[in-house]
Amino acid sequence: MTAAAHVSEAPVSSPPQADQTAAFECRAVSKRYPGGALALDDITLRGEPGQVVVLVGPSGCGKTTLLRCLAGLDSVSSGEIYLQGRDAAGVQPHLRGVAMVFQNYALYPNKTVAQNIAFPLRMSRVPRKERDARTREIAEILKIGHLLDRRPRQLSGGQKQRVGIGRALVRRPAIVAMDEPLSNLDAQLRVEMRAEIRALQQRLGMTVVYVTHDQTEALSLADRIVVMNGGAIEQAGAPEEAFTAPATPFVAGFLGAMNLMSGTVAADTFRLTGAAGDAITLPRWISAPDARKAVATIGVRPEHLVVGEPPADRWSVSGHLVSSELLGTERLVAVRIGHHGEQILRIRVPADQPLSAEVRVWARDEHLHAFDAAGKRL
Ligand code: ATP
Repeated sequence: MTAAAHVSEAPVSSPPQADQTAAFECRAVSKRYPGGALALDDITLRGEPGQVVVLVGPSGCGKTTLLRCLAGLDSVSSGEIYLQGRDAAGVQPHLRGVAMVFQNYALYPNKTVAQNIAFPLRMSRVPRKERDARTREIAEILKIGHLLDRRPRQLSGGQKQRVGIGRALVRRPAIVAMDEPLSNLDAQLRVEMRAEIRALQQRLGMTVVYVTHDQTEALSLADRIVVMNGGAIEQAGAPEEAFTAPATPFVAGFLGAMNLMSGTVAADTFRLTGAAGDAITLPRWISAPDARKAVATIGVRPEHLVVGEPPADRWSVSGHLVSSELLGTERLVAVRIGHHGEQILRIRVPADQPLSAEVRVWARDEHLHAFDAAGKRL
């Protein structure tokens, strides 16, 4: 992936005052660890109050680093961070109004649930009566009111994570930063907790910055999804937009799956590399002649490809079935395209569809995605 392919948000044109309406803003933030790689590369991003902003991307792409920089647990190498319109440079973590929830819960083993939740209030010298009232209130909201006297070792994973969330919320922070909070839980509990975090966030009107590498979690939780790769933002926007109109092949493959077919444009067709004779008619929606010439990759999701004879006037390619995997009501098949083709298409077909060894494959125009040689959506 070239640097040019990273599509970050339009840079803010350095107003003298920070935007007071944003919950947080990062302007051209970069972070290099001493002697290490560039963990954040020119991140410009803003989150609105009451939004869930989800940072998603593969391991090592910089999600945790960005969260830690927001919380003040790490310093930035260059660029600025504004929290509620105030420059956060030099502001201590406990004064930033950003509370962290960690993947490993990070509870004090010798303290009770109540003492764990109340701990930040004790540190800020909140009087005991108020401390107790706020602890009880947040514990009731999180449905752990009956567990206040237990120690962490007497709790399930899901209960421990609720305590971790309670300890973050009890300070009534402006922003809650969650670093893979559900990844230690089993699949079923993860789905339940996800819905609860969403409900809680809406009830309390919190701004949440949520880190995950799970695309389903990201799509289901986000008001704004930020797909990161190699320390940079590939795409930031509404989750529907990132899914239906991925800005780069990386985003397309990370949020869901996408077959990427490489080839060259000749007249009005896209000739697939290594698939003699087969060509895809360029989608009509790419109207600008320059854009039509620039197509270097065509993408199509496995669920949008159809195995069978196409309707008249639709393109199709021939292929050879190489594998078939039952998923339940569907089957994921792999088809090698062209007679001596190198490219493989993965296709979801109904599980009961009869398939022969030689097949034809097609898709609707509107389901094709086109990218140029630098990986930018056309
Ligand atoms: P994961 O999903 O695996 O937690 P991540 O997207 O959160 O990954 P980061 O933890 O932010 O990624 O790491 C970004 C990059 O910075 C990685 O290349 C990592 O090796 C590097 N890095 C992180 N912490 C340090 C550190 N303390 N010193 C040096 N390099 C670091």
